[in-house]
Amino acid sequence: MLYLSTRGHPDRKHFCDILLEGLAPDGGLYLPEHYPQVDDAMLTRLRTAYHEQGYAELAFQLLSLYIDDIPAADLKALCAKTYTAEVFGTGEIVPLRHLEDSLWLEALSNGPTLAFKDMAMQLLGNLFEYELARRGEQLNILGATSGDTGSAAEYAMRGKAGVRVFMTSPHGRMSAFQQAQMFSLQDENIHNIAIEGVFDDCQDIVKAVSNDHAFKHKYKIGTVNSINWARLLAQVVYYFAGYIQATEENHEKVSFTVPSGNFGNVCAGHVARSMGLPIDKLVVATNENDVLDEFFRTGVYRVRGSADTHETSSPSMDISKASNFERFVFDLLGRDGARVQALFGDALAREGRFDLSADPAFADAAARYGFVSGKSTHADRLATIRDTFQRFGMTIDTHTADGVKVARAHTTPGVPMLVLETALPIKFAETIEEALGHAPDRPAKFAGIEDLPKRVQVMPADADVVKAYIARHCD
Ligand SMILES: *Cc1c(COP(=O)(O)O)cnc(C)c1O
Repeated sequence: MLYLSTRGHPDRKHFCDILLEGLAPDGGLYLPEHYPQVDDAMLTRLRTAYHEQGYAELAFQLLSLYIDDIPAADLKALCAKTYTAEVFGTGEIVPLRHLEDSLWLEALSNGPTLAFKDMAMQLLGNLFEYELARRGEQLNILGATSGDTGSAAEYAMRGKAGVRVFMTSPHGRMSAFQQAQMFSLQDENIHNIAIEGVFDDCQDIVKAVSNDHAFKHKYKIGTVNSINWARLLAQVVYYFAGYIQATEENHEKVSFTVPSGNFGNVCAGHVARSMGLPIDKLVVATNENDVLDEFFRTGVYRVRGSADTHETSSPSMDISKASNFERFVFDLLGRDGARVQALFGDALAREGRFDLSADPAFADAAARYGFVSGKSTHADRLATIRDTFQRFGMTIDTHTADGVKVARAHTTPGVPMLVLETALPIKFAETIEEALGHAPDRPAKFAGIEDLPKRVQVMPADADVVKAYIARHCD
């Protein structure tokens, strides 16, 4: 399998080359040349693999369709090492829980940092370690986080040979639990950098460092953000695992609702559906930052300015643009790289928006690709958390609540609707208290985490200071 850029660059690459790379050279995102098709017999084999050998085997069989430059035995071992009951809490790895009628939750948040990002990041950590050792190379990951991405990356890379993590976050702005999760790590290869500023300042620093090509090259700077194809690919697996658990026969259909920000999670659903998995609808749930809901309702994609980007109680969905959305638009427009370049490279840079409402392809988003959308607000979130607790005795997190709220508007009788649970409530305890009047349960392994010694450097919002720190800590 070879990979190409969404903006039409002529190069074709293998999986391990794009694993360690960010954007394609023309600024596009990587996608496979085609989506391997899963027919009835293959789906039956995958079903058996999941039931009899478990999630790791399902992951191995699906990843094998996309990765031809890692020997099968090695890939199998990497999957087996990643997806264990010890790391993810249950043998099913992503168990389903029933809410009402056709509505289910698919639990993706029982990994080390209690958010779905562990599902992909844990595999990425093992892939990086494997590939860097094979090449005899090192990688210094520089990132910016407002919470979930940074902790998932640090827990995936801690103690890994050949990798260091430099993670910037806005000083004093993450929840106490999120700060404790990251800053209590004592591993030598993990560096927490608290920036005196907001999240955008952290992102600007990462951009400034990445744009200094000499520095980037000398210090082997890389990223782990959600545009990484390997992360997206790892996420495809749990759409299959959800489908297999919710159905007994291959012709049955299932829908998914996905609390969305950068469109990474639901884009994996689009890939699974494009492979032939019988998915009816893919429901994109947004919070007040409704860039994606606006597109799927109107055909207009409009990037928000910082004054228009709201700080909400589902903060991991607070985005001004959806960085993986380009992948879907590439498929929607018949894989026309020149048009994607004109939209994402030119129109967005010039006007901050583009409009596909008059394009016949826009109707295909729903009719051909199953996409629909909806939006949820702070009041919806509180009401949904309260209602879910009162009726089912279950506490759900704020992002998952956005999903449940939006899913209810799109259910079809007889078609299971799986809402992806993207985090556990303890990560967003303040809003849970606001909704329920009491704090959510805390998993035993996180007892007293706020009292552990913290390992963090506070720095001004100055890229040069961050560069000097990186230079001092790389040999
Ligand atoms: C990252 C994240 C999201 C958004 O996922 P995308 O892939 O960016 O769409 C939703 N919920 C939680 C809890 C997250 O951490």
